[in-house]
Amino acid sequence: MALTQLLKTSTMGQAIICLVLLAISAYIFYVRKLTTKPVSVNYHFTRKCNKTCKFCFHTEKTSHVATKKEMMRGLTLLKKAGMRKINFAGGEPFLYPEKLGWLCQFCKQGLGLESVSIITNGTKLTERWLDKYGEFVDVMGVSCDSFNEETNIAIGRGTGKNVEQLFRIRDWCRKLGIKFKLNTVVCKYNWQEDMAAIVEELDPQRWKCFQVLFVEDENDANTADTENDKRKRDAKGLLISDEEYEAFCAKHRHLPSLIPEPNEIMASSYLILDEYMCFLDKGKGKEKQSSSILDVGVAKALDEVKWDQDAFVKRGGLYDWSKEAQEGGCGSTQSKELQW
Ligand code: SF4
Repeated sequence: MALTQLLKTSTMGQAIICLVLLAISAYIFYVRKLTTKPVSVNYHFTRKCNKTCKFCFHTEKTSHVATKKEMMRGLTLLKKAGMRKINFAGGEPFLYPEKLGWLCQFCKQGLGLESVSIITNGTKLTERWLDKYGEFVDVMGVSCDSFNEETNIAIGRGTGKNVEQLFRIRDWCRKLGIKFKLNTVVCKYNWQEDMAAIVEELDPQRWKCFQVLFVEDENDANTADTENDKRKRDAKGLLISDEEYEAFCAKHRHLPSLIPEPNEIMASSYLILDEYMCFLDKGKGKEKQSSSILDVGVAKALDEVKWDQDAFVKRGGLYDWSKEAQEGGCGSTQSKELQW
């Protein structure tokens, strides 16, 4: 009897087929784990912020900031594990201007990362800081949810001057060859706003528009609690339907810089490192925190959370992220060389 016939007919044959299939799946899973590299990391080194956005999903649950020595060790481990881009976020990173400057210099000059970026609410960024540390920064992302002051106040981030400050930052970045990016969270208060004319004038390299995200343990407090403790947030009243989010995107789709990020793409596609250098998984259900990379190393910590690499690629995570790329240098092809 031919071997294939034997495999098809005997119970033993069926068991062998199952075992082979199991072995192949385990092998694929193992190889994928081994080749997982933290290519692009978002390091939220502080949770402290000077604003109180109701939808904030990285709230001031602790005031911890790692020491320089710890940061240096953790960032070096990440570089060795394959990190090529880092984004410093918060809280508001510019509440620690000297530490932030040191971090940018260490990552760009010391570790030689391809890209160093910052995401800020823009209120504390100065031209003086950029003159001192701008050479170590590739991308400056500024969050802006509305050009209407009343809407900004309702969200919890009114300053009265956000448009002027955005144009100033854009000009400072242009002068230094830093890529300028905008981030907008689309929520109940701004989904009907037409932001096209001013965004077009600002002309960011990328304009990311996120659908407001609900994260258990971050922005799920009840209203009474948020009044007693300003660090707690309640995003429930700001959530929008997929149709409302799509209506906002449709209104702005003609802008080439627009990058929509609906909830299903956003939730687990970012590799987030918190103030203790633990990875966070803000995907479905309660937020999960890995062990610190300082205690268990990068591979083990990565293994403890879900990071959706496919969603990372799908959302355009591999873009031309260094100054060289902007200038048409060799950096413009670097991202395309990545192998997963
Ligand atoms: S979302 Fe608002 S409160 Fe949260 S870190 Fe950003 S600016 Fe601060």
